[in-house]
Amino acid sequence: MPTAKHVLVTGGAGFVGSHLCDRLIKDGHEVICLDNLATGSKKNITHLLSNANFAFVERDVQEPFYAKVDWIFNLACPASPPQYQKNPVQTVRTTVMGMINMLDLAGANGARILQASTSEVYGDPNIHPQPETYWGNVNPISRRGCYDEGKRCAETLCFDYHREYGVDIRVIRIFNTYGPRMAKDDGRVVSNFILQALRNEPITIYGDGSYTRSFQYVDDLIEGMMRMMAQDEEVGPINIGNPGEFTIKELAENILDLTGSTSELTYLPPAESDPKQRKPDITLAKQVLSWEPKIQLKDGLAKTVEYFKSVL
Ligand code: NAD
Ligand code: UDP
Repeated sequence: MPTAKHVLVTGGAGFVGSHLCDRLIKDGHEVICLDNLATGSKKNITHLLSNANFAFVERDVQEPFYAKVDWIFNLACPASPPQYQKNPVQTVRTTVMGMINMLDLAGANGARILQASTSEVYGDPNIHPQPETYWGNVNPISRRGCYDEGKRCAETLCFDYHREYGVDIRVIRIFNTYGPRMAKDDGRVVSNFILQALRNEPITIYGDGSYTRSFQYVDDLIEGMMRMMAQDEEVGPINIGNPGEFTIKELAENILDLTGSTSELTYLPPAESDPKQRKPDITLAKQVLSWEPKIQLKDGLAKTVEYFKSVL
């Protein structure tokens, strides 16, 4: 087993963050979970609260924070478009001020910091699939800009703190990830469609259903994050995603099959500045981390359907 670390997870009560806290505790680390519960929930971490190696701090990442830590995973930020667009200025402040605070904390401790960046830095991509060398096609003044540009600026900050102050950074670009503990009101496509299917309500396709995404099951992402944090050489950015590419209509049909739902597909106006296609080039993750996703869409969706059945 690797040496136990003191670890800070910002956004640790969210969907991805809570799975990451589980994995870190399982591996014997001491974890501080910092979260303001904007889109996360204490329910996601209730089972950890009695663990002596786990502490929860309800706090905004926009406020400076000090703790003695070896590793920082910076995940604090709403990830769902309806959630991050509800309060766009807060989204920019969280991504930028939060990143500065966490990089300062990493610098003060000589800690390693992993930034949870996103495929959104590629915007509506003109290159397909997207390699890390692609600089992206983002509209800075669209409603997605608060998240896309905030996350792009956070990457800039990571690399400037690295060059200027020698901070030990790791940057991963996460592609659409789904699984148990997505919030019921999250608004992302997988949770929306599963909930609609289980309730036999219309499936809300924005646009004509031809846009594509590559969906990664959360366990694959956590494995990629742990490998990236543990390796000493490559700072990134590295894409972490599942290259299996599906249209949104195919996703809906898969979910209808799995649930045996009688829901009908309804077509609504397209979302503003919605990227038309997205698929990671994961050559670098394979080379550097010996990582690739293991869980097929059908299997991951089946686990997620079971989870939503249990919470409904
Ligand atoms: P989530 O909304 O479930 O989790 C985000 C967590 O951050 C929540 O617990 C929320 O309460 C917390 N948070 C938000 N603003 C905060 C603030 N100002 N201070 C402290 N805590 C704050 O989303 P998620 O899917 O778990 O995403 C986690 C991270 O991974 C995010 O940074 C997101 O940008 C990144 N990411 C996720 C995906 C994905 O598909 N899930 C894809 C790309 C990147
Ligand atoms: N989408 C949809 N119906 C929904 C939610 C989302 O058709 O109820 C579409 C959305 O327009 C986008 C894709 O599904 O084309 C993925 O959306 P999501 O919000 O999950 O993630 P992101 O747009 O950030 O990739």
